[in-house]
Amino acid sequence: MTDQRIFNFNAGPAALPLQVLEDIQSSFLNFNGSGMSITEISHRSSYFDEVINDAIARAKRLLKLDDRFHVLFVQGGASLQFAMIPMNFLSGDDIADYVNTGTWSTKAIKEAQIQQKNHRVVASSEDRDFSYIPTDIPFSKGAKYVHLTSNNTIKGTQFQEFPDTNGVPIVCDMSSDIFSRPLDMDKFGMIYAGAQKNLGPSGTCMVILRKDLLEGANADLPSMLTYDTYAAKNSMYNTPPCFGIYTIDLVLKWIEEQMGGLAQMEAYNIKKAGLLYDFIEAGSFYRTTAQADSRSLMNVTFRLPSEDLEKLFVAQATASGLGGLKGHRSVGGCRASIYNAATMESITALVQFMESFAKENK
Ligand SMILES: *Cc1c(COP(=O)(O)O)cnc(C)c1O
Repeated sequence: MTDQRIFNFNAGPAALPLQVLEDIQSSFLNFNGSGMSITEISHRSSYFDEVINDAIARAKRLLKLDDRFHVLFVQGGASLQFAMIPMNFLSGDDIADYVNTGTWSTKAIKEAQIQQKNHRVVASSEDRDFSYIPTDIPFSKGAKYVHLTSNNTIKGTQFQEFPDTNGVPIVCDMSSDIFSRPLDMDKFGMIYAGAQKNLGPSGTCMVILRKDLLEGANADLPSMLTYDTYAAKNSMYNTPPCFGIYTIDLVLKWIEEQMGGLAQMEAYNIKKAGLLYDFIEAGSFYRTTAQADSRSLMNVTFRLPSEDLEKLFVAQATASGLGGLKGHRSVGGCRASIYNAATMESITALVQFMESFAKENK
C-alpha cells in the first residue's frame, strides 16, 4: 500500500504519461464544456467526432501517413487481429509468410492454422529460445503478406530494421513499440497494436491499413470481423471504445507536443534503454537474455545469478516503489518494460536500486 505513484515497469497494461492521466482527471466530470464525462457522451455527438478525428489526424502526422492509409480502431485487442488478418486477406491458393520470434508470433501463426489458410513459417528463432531476430529470411515469392512481430514483449527482442520482402507488404504486430520510433511506411501493408503497452487502456486496438489491401479482401465475413466495415464507418459501425480512443488521442498529443515527434521519442528511448543496458553490461551480477544486436528498447529482460535472488530482487524492488519487474510467467527472470511513458527518472531509480542490490547480494 502506498499513497505515492510508483515507478511502474509493468509490461501491459503499462505506465501512461502523467500529463495524460492528469488531463483525463481534470476533464473527467465535464468534457470540453459538455457537462458530461467522456464516458457518458454519445459516440454520434460532435464531441466524440472531434476526439476520434483528432486521434486519426495525430497518428497520420506522427507516422507521416498519406491518403493510402486508413487509421482504424477495433476491439478485441491485438489477439483478435491474429485471426482477422488471415480471415480477411487469404483465400484459395493465397499464401502468407510468418516469421516466428516468440509467444505473440506463435499465437498469430496458430490463428492462420486454425482457419486452414495457406501459410509458411519462413524463419524462426525458437532454436535459441527466441533470443534473437532472424536475418536473411527466404521470403516466398508472391505472398499476400509477411507477418512480423516488431517487438517481442516477453523475450525482449526487437527488429532494429525491417527486412526487404521483395515488395510483399509487411503486416506487423507493433503492440509493444508503436510510436516509439519513426517508420518507413512504404514497407507496410498494415500495422496494428493493442493499446495497453504504448498507447492507452486495454480493449482498443489501433489498425493502420493500406487501402489497396481491402481490394480483393474476403467479403463474406461477419460485419464486425471485416476491415471494410471499420473503414467505411470511420470505426463507428457500432459503439467504439470511446474512452480508449480518447486516451490514445491524449497520448498522441503528448508525443507530438511534449516530446516533439517520433524522432525525438526514439532518441529518448535509446537514451533510456542505453542507460539500463550499459549498467547491466558493466557488471557481472546481472545478465541480459537477448542477443546484443536484437535487443529491445522497450522490454529489457535480464537474469540474476539464481532464481532465489530474482525473487528477492522483485520483492525488494516492489517494497522500494519499483513495480512490475517480474519476468513473464512463461519465462521467469526479470523484465523492465520501459515504453514511451517511462521517464529517465524511473530508469535512474532502477539503476540505483540494481546497483545497491548487487552490492548487498554478491
Ligand atoms: C500484449 C501483446 C499482444 C496481446 O495483446 P491483447 O491486446 O491482449 O490481445 C499481442 N502482441 C504483442 C506484441 C503484445 O505485446
